[in-house]
Amino acid sequence: MEPLKPLIIPRADHTISRRSLSPNAVRVLYRLKDNGFTAYLVGGGVRDLLLGREPKDFDIVTNATPVQIKKMFRNCRLIGRRFRLAHLHFHDEIVEVATFRSARLDDMPADESLSMDQPEGRTSTSDVPRLLKSEDGMVLRDNIFGTPEEDAVRRDFTVNALAYNISDFSLIDYVGGLEDLQRGVIRTIGDPAVRFVEDPVRMIRAVRFAAMLGFSIEGTTWHTILELGATVTKASPPRLYEEVLKLLLLGAAERTYQLLRQSGIFAALFPHFSRWLDRESDGFPHTWVGKALDHVDVLLQNGEKVQPPLLFALMFGQYLQEKADRFRKEGLPAHPAVNAAVAEFMGEVSPTVQFPNRVAILMRDILTSQYRLRKIPGRHPETFATRHGFAEALAYLRFMANVTGEDAKIVNWWEKFRLEPQPEIQQEGEPRQKRRRRRKRRKKPSQDHSEGVD
Ligand code: ATP
Ligand code: MG
Repeated sequence: MEPLKPLIIPRADHTISRRSLSPNAVRVLYRLKDNGFTAYLVGGGVRDLLLGREPKDFDIVTNATPVQIKKMFRNCRLIGRRFRLAHLHFHDEIVEVATFRSARLDDMPADESLSMDQPEGRTSTSDVPRLLKSEDGMVLRDNIFGTPEEDAVRRDFTVNALAYNISDFSLIDYVGGLEDLQRGVIRTIGDPAVRFVEDPVRMIRAVRFAAMLGFSIEGTTWHTILELGATVTKASPPRLYEEVLKLLLLGAAERTYQLLRQSGIFAALFPHFSRWLDRESDGFPHTWVGKALDHVDVLLQNGEKVQPPLLFALMFGQYLQEKADRFRKEGLPAHPAVNAAVAEFMGEVSPTVQFPNRVAILMRDILTSQYRLRKIPGRHPETFATRHGFAEALAYLRFMANVTGEDAKIVNWWEKFRLEPQPEIQQEGEPRQKRRRRRKRRKKPSQDHSEGVD
């Protein structure tokens, strides 16, 4: 294959300055460069800086191998089994440094690629001597690492494949990413059918970036998502959980939800819930989920943290409540009915999206706490108000009050109660102080007059 000619945008023609990077990232880029290596800032960091957004993190790629990176940085930890990456640990930040990689690597059997099992220093497929072209340190084309070009084209979308070169502060664009960034378009690099079969999670990522950046999804990319959306479930359930979480916690959950529904990805991820949504004729649950996610977006935009159990309790609350009502009709008391509803729900979703147990437990607690919240003051309100998960339970009730127009008084009561100074009480989980019995000391006749007495 002919090497691609990149578009090089000189410093004067783009807006990224070293000042907009984190000082640690700049330090790392310079250390690599000063040691004779190529070093680029890549991925979401470049994309976000060009859009005037604050990047979440800074990823760097280089032609230095993981072992060479480790020698250069004392704060370096090598992670990953198949692909070794360097994590450079700073006080409040981790900068990720990877070696240029080729897509062919992804198809390689595990023992051919990098392995953490190799003791450091031993010559192996994963180490330096076989990989580098003598002195200049440039990685060869036909080795297990890749060239800068291969590293760019193995990435998912054109807007994620731009690189900022520390040696002359230019931007390097192999795939037309800058033009798509300016037009606001998410487009796969290469044939979307091929790229989505390689990794179906990329379809979810396309939706995430479109919603997060307010971009549109390019026509062929979108049509391929419509065709292949249901195949997202080929990815592992724990990975899909992480992806769903990222999707819904970016502050644009409502838009994301609409795109997920339209694309068919939502139905594939949550088939039972999705059928339940479709069954409703008066549109009530649709507006419920939309409103719940809207509420999450508002909380996030106000700088509040939304924990996963609250997010999912809000999103699936109505569905879970309906299940709980059914269990109650079958004779279960209130709390066990919610328990059974959450357990049934987890059974439904776990083949596709695996919620961690602790999240399921806290979701259940949010829902069962609604009964207690409605009894004011009830017994020991101060103990209840300091329980782990109380804030989330109250946040859920606040949302319910907004939607239904009921219970506002109860929410206000608890909010006021929380602000009032409470007598000191023991927090849940705190070790109880041991009670010590005081023993009366008996006076030993010799003790008091010991001094000077022989
Ligand atoms: P965010 O701001 O959400 O972190 P990001 O673009 O930085 O967005 P990451 O998941 O941090 O996304 O990944 C960093 C980069 O790695 C991406 O920009 C992309 O170039 C590449 N990448 C990540 N996941 C994939 C994937 N599944 N397929 C191909 N390239 C990927
Ligand atoms: Mg990132």
